[in-house]
Amino acid sequence: MSDPIDRDGLRDGFWRKPMHKMSRKEWEALCDGCGKCCLNKLEDEDTGEVALTRVACRLLDDSTCLCAQYPIRHQFVPDCIVLTPGNIADNLYWMPQTCTYRLVYEGRDLPPWHPLVSGSHDTVHEAGVSVRGITVSEFDTPEDDWEDHIIEEPV
Ligand code: SF4
Ligand code: SF4
Repeated sequence: MSDPIDRDGLRDGFWRKPMHKMSRKEWEALCDGCGKCCLNKLEDEDTGEVALTRVACRLLDDSTCLCAQYPIRHQFVPDCIVLTPGNIADNLYWMPQTCTYRLVYEGRDLPPWHPLVSGSHDTVHEAGVSVRGITVSEFDTPEDDWEDHIIEEPV
């Protein structure tokens, strides 16, 4: 399968420039396609700590780790967050540890399995970083049971 994210023609290392100076294409190309941000999370009321569960958003395709309705997703999932350079700081508390937006925000470099480094979007799956094949449906999993599906990162 070809890379569903358009990363053609981007300058090597563009991810080291300030986020607010990135073009829309560069910003979108940061995503490694792991699908972890599409997992439901549980927040500890006392500590504020957030845990990822393997219970996926209804629109996540487990085989591709992509949103099945990305352009019109807000019609189905109104609270799906649109990450921007302006709101990333407020969202760090729940973002997956390997999420590229977190790495770049924290001034870290991209891992070797990132499609921008490897040249292939398969490497995120081959490295075992994506959620391919590990999710359960939120339709089939009552919220009371989500605690049984907490996962440690990296998955
Ligand atoms: S966790 Fe980050 S890198 Fe992974 S799919 Fe979500 S936005 Fe992309
Ligand atoms: S609506 Fe799409 S992008 Fe948003 S969390 Fe669900 S699967 Fe992910």
